[in-house]
Amino acid sequence: MEKRELLYEGKAKKLFTTDDQNLLISEFKDDLTAFNGAKKSSEAGKGALNNKISTELFKLIESKGVPTHFVGMLDDNHMLHKRVDVILIEVIVRNIATGSLSKNLGIEDGKVLPFTLVEFDYKNDELGDPKLNDQHALILGLVDYQDELDKIRRMARQVNDILKPYFAEKGLNLVDFKLEFGKDKEGNIILADEISPDNCRFWDMETGEKMDKDRFRQGLGGLKVAYEEVLNRILGAK
Ligand code: 5GP
Repeated sequence: MEKRELLYEGKAKKLFTTDDQNLLISEFKDDLTAFNGAKKSSEAGKGALNNKISTELFKLIESKGVPTHFVGMLDDNHMLHKRVDVILIEVIVRNIATGSLSKNLGIEDGKVLPFTLVEFDYKNDELGDPKLNDQHALILGLVDYQDELDKIRRMARQVNDILKPYFAEKGLNLVDFKLEFGKDKEGNIILADEISPDNCRFWDMETGEKMDKDRFRQGLGGLKVAYEEVLNRILGAK
């Protein structure tokens, strides 16, 4: 499958049409951005690592019965996937408090939450991705029915139930992550976007070391080594 027209360029990926109107190709970029684009850099090989990690995780999630947009990895930087109408909600799943949760609500950084928290952010760079509740999402027309929000929440929890024990076995705490969903041509809600250390937080269970984009956000260095380590653990080469 070949790339045709550039449909959209985001911060971490370019999206291309293909000869099949139901399929698109994502090109994973090496660019790094944080704080809504205020901090920028690039790390050679980062895009390929995210493509490979996302590929493995989408395959795992699909195998456990959660539908995703994933079709196949084409080469190091390209993924073939279904075309979806993106739902403009960033679904944040949290097992351990850190990041904006600790900052906004004063919950101690590193506190294990009594239950898995699912939050919605409005995917809107201009507004800085503000928090949403269900009524906001319905008023904004981001989905048509409450049932769809309930389904998205259920699917996000299912993904967490798959990934959390999977990473625990590999010595990584899945602290939190961001998912995006879309509607396929039949109107089914499926998991879209990517699942990578760009949008997940992983902490090493033994050392507490951060193995994700916080290395860039917090200027810790060693981002590529950390992403490679996440991929190696996924591939079982720990
Ligand atoms: P926080 O709200 O604490 O900044 O982020 C929670 C989790 O969601 C983190 O794993 C973070 O990587 C992810 N996340 C939240 N918003 C975004 C976003 O706009 N882009 C990306 N790549 N990840 C996000």
